[in-house]
Amino acid sequence: MTFHTYCPEQTEALGQALGQKLRGGEVIAFQGDLGAGKTAFTRGLAKGLGIPMRVTSPTYTIVNEYSGGRLELFHFDMYRLGSSEELFDIGWEDYLLRGGVCAVEWSEKVSDAIEDPIWVRIHKAGDEERIITVEGGSGYEDLEL
Ligand code: ADP
Ligand code: MG
Repeated sequence: MTFHTYCPEQTEALGQALGQKLRGGEVIAFQGDLGAGKTAFTRGLAKGLGIPMRVTSPTYTIVNEYSGGRLELFHFDMYRLGSSEELFDIGWEDYLLRGGVCAVEWSEKVSDAIEDPIWVRIHKAGDEERIITVEGGSGYEDLEL
């Protein structure tokens, strides 16, 4: 599915719509440059999950955990990660087993650790236009965003 957004709020709204449909256990794997809107989309995911905190970029911590919603959200930023080995060191497999939602920025850095994600690819088409494709993952074809 392909969407066009023209401001950060629209990208957030798209994330929110996806967040409302998630059932737990999903991995959302982002692809897109710095400033594409991966964190904005994740902010929407959190809203859709009913999480009351505002999501901020986890660049310096690798992962931020959010609870208080319908499902837990684990927001990863792999930008500073050398390899997926470091991801396993911080307990990636445990996160996968916790039944929450894992949102992963710079997922291409750890592609060998990620299985069957929902891909969210964000392309900057201008200052404010973004082309966003959302692609399942088995079982997610029926998301009807
Ligand atoms: P990333 O996490 O991909 O690096 P962020 O979500 O942190 O990106 O930042 C996106 C930036 O792009 C913000 O400064 C935001 O205001 C700006 N922006 C402009 N148009 C859009 C849009 N349509 N969707 C998302 N962000 C947008
Ligand atoms: Mg970001």
